[in-house]
Amino acid sequence: MDNTLCERRMSEAELLSSFEDAVNYDHIFVCYQAQINHSTGRMVGAEALMRWKHPLYGLQYPSDFIPVLEKNNLIYKADLHVFDMVCRFQKRCMEEGIAIVPISVNMSRYDIYNHNYVEEIEAIRKKYDVPVKYLRIEITESSAIGGMELVSSVLSKLHEYGYLVEMDDFGSGYSSLNILKDLDVDIIKLDMKFMSGNMGGRGGTILSSIVQMAKWLNTPVIAEGVETMEIADYLKSIGCNYIQGYLYSRPTPPEDFISVIKEINHEPLTPAMELYNDMDTGKFWNPESMETLIFSNFAGPACVFVYSTTDRTIEILRMNKKYVKEVGNGRTEKEIIKANPWDDHDEKSRKDYEDALLRAIESNDEEVVENWREICTKICGTDKICIRSYIRVIGKGEDKYLFYAMVQNITKEKKMLAERDEKELVLKNAFEHANVYAWEVNLSTWDMRPCFRCMRDLQLPPVIHNYPEPVIENGLFPPDYADMYRDWMKQLASGVEKLEAIIPLTVGRVPFHVRYTTEFDETGKPLKAYGSATLVVDDDKEK
Ligand code: C2E
Ligand code: CA
Ligand code: CA
Repeated sequence: MDNTLCERRMSEAELLSSFEDAVNYDHIFVCYQAQINHSTGRMVGAEALMRWKHPLYGLQYPSDFIPVLEKNNLIYKADLHVFDMVCRFQKRCMEEGIAIVPISVNMSRYDIYNHNYVEEIEAIRKKYDVPVKYLRIEITESSAIGGMELVSSVLSKLHEYGYLVEMDDFGSGYSSLNILKDLDVDIIKLDMKFMSGNMGGRGGTILSSIVQMAKWLNTPVIAEGVETMEIADYLKSIGCNYIQGYLYSRPTPPEDFISVIKEINHEPLTPAMELYNDMDTGKFWNPESMETLIFSNFAGPACVFVYSTTDRTIEILRMNKKYVKEVGNGRTEKEIIKANPWDDHDEKSRKDYEDALLRAIESNDEEVVENWREICTKICGTDKICIRSYIRVIGKGEDKYLFYAMVQNITKEKKMLAERDEKELVLKNAFEHANVYAWEVNLSTWDMRPCFRCMRDLQLPPVIHNYPEPVIENGLFPPDYADMYRDWMKQLASGVEKLEAIIPLTVGRVPFHVRYTTEFDETGKPLKAYGSATLVVDDDKEK
């Protein structure tokens, strides 16, 4: 028999008579809809939505069967069945090493009247050994119809066990604002009705003030039923980044949802982070706030990222335009966010950076690190850049730390330094080759710095103070030349540009051609004298 021929809405009587089987044989099952951070494209959670696939009558939707179950006191059983399936799903993800996102389960307002509801879900959770952080409970605004006391006590019981609670359909009733004041919910879900119509009008204003208020309460907001990019962008512009809706994902059967989990990166709902110092979460994440304005307009290149100490990953959450310009190497903000930051680092560079992160966690202060990164872009090809980062912890959540990093691209400076070092090396080699000993004398401090060759052959230290006395004392300059040599220093200090003579050096009195050239500052004051000594070879003497 072809099932689809019979596919149709079921009558109330049919629903009720099939209910036992539906629970026992998993005809009632769960689809998952992702909750996404619209700024980063990452998943922050998912909602479990009940479906009923009758073997004869096909797929039934909640709007058809949930009211029937509620009316007949069966919703309670159905909800526990859903909770059980969600726990099984999470357990499977854990066992198969699939990344886990917290899943929100709907609680009917009628479940509130069942005193055991919280205890029963807790027993199911324990049965499958799923950590409580991977489960959330959605209660609806309408739950408060029966009185605040009941909802309050359920809420505190859920909190006692560690569940985060979402206020579903927020804004759909008249008493929304009061409810928020009286109920300590952890996440607000904006009702879908806000998502239609003209965002610039009254609806937009209400929406914007709800988001604003939620920020004051330090409560993350998820907007539901977002179908278009325009609405998502508008929501982002008023500070609501979390989105659940057809734009990103339809409710998806478990098998397909596992693929979605594997495809999309995850991140925590951010205000679950406790912010350090004087930072105000609400202000910081709100695009209209002063902090944001400073971050995006007046601060230097900066980004905010999460570092996980267990899996040692970095996820960039926010960056300003200057950051993109400074370290992006032609990449867009999206491309930077999508990339794994470690891909740019070699082993040493990554170690240096992670060491600095750990230092910053330890010191709770600013730490500096410089490292080379290899950036690969379509436009520029592969390019090596050197970044100096000033990093500081601004928040903490479990094994995750929130960091603020100010960066400078110091590639040019580094390259110039390297060039200088290279030049010095060339010069050094040239001296080696030409049998020249060289040194410089600072004409105000009388510090003398010998070249490498002097240090090696004559066992001189890197700096000789009170020059030339020590080399007279140690016999490098013979005593009969000491006064002449002291007089040379006086002449150089008083501005003589060049001096030279053949002087027998060391106790062996080996003849050397000793020369001095003076360097002056812009006012004509003598700064340094560069000395050199070349061995006078026999054929030189013969001339
Ligand atoms: P809800 O909790 O507000 O769930 C969101 C509903 O919006 C879902 O409808 C979802 O499919 C739909 N939706 C999501 N994104 C969009 C979008 O972009 N545009 C539009 N037009 N709709 C979108 P669904 O699955 O039909 O569920 C309807 C309601 O049934 C739910 O509303 C919830 O109140 C109830 N429900 C669903 N599952 C359960 C459950 O396990 N237990 C209980 N007690 N109620 C449930
Ligand atoms: Ca819901
Ligand atoms: Ca809802």
